[in-house]
This record gives sequence, structure tokens and C-alpha cells, in this order.
Amino acid sequence: MPRDISSEHYKKRHREISRKHRMKNYLKIFARAAAKTLPWKPCEVCKDKKSEAHHDDYKKPYTVRWLCKKHHEEVDTELERKRRNDRGK
Ligand SMILES: [Zn+2]
Repeated sequence: MPRDISSEHYKKRHREISRKHRMKNYLKIFARAAAKTLPWKPCEVCKDKKSEAHHDDYKKPYTVRWLCKKHHEEVDTELERKRRNDRGK
């Protein structure tokens, strides 16, 4: 019964993908909660007091950089660009 086999295969793959997705979300939520327990600092670039915690790596929830909205966006854009470059190698 090839049809059953392929649907089993699909379900298995789907489970693996959603597990990875959940893990990623979990890390993100945990990292944000961890950042809230850290001493707050102003933006490391412009010293703006309206800063937010930035994670270079959600697997290191206590390693944060404090950045205002503007510089946070800049860092995120830069990281995204680097990630794309790394994939291209
Ligand atoms: Zn700033």
C-alpha cells in the first residue's frame, strides 16, 4: 500500500519539522524571560534609555546586548545578512 507509506512518511517529517519549530520558539521565549532578570542597560551604541535586549544567539539566553529600537533593527539586519552569506558558502 504505497499510499499509506507516503502519508506515514509525510506525518513523520511533519512531526520532525514542528518539533524543531517548537524548540526554536521555546528558546526565544526563554531567552526573553531570562533577559528580564538581567540588570537593564541603555543602548550600547547611542546610550538611548529606551533599549531592548538583543540576543545574538537564543541558546545563550543570558548573553544579551542592549540596543534601542533603531540599533536593534540594524544589528538584526546585519545578522540576517551574515546568516544568508554563511548559507551561500
Ligand atoms: Zn541606539
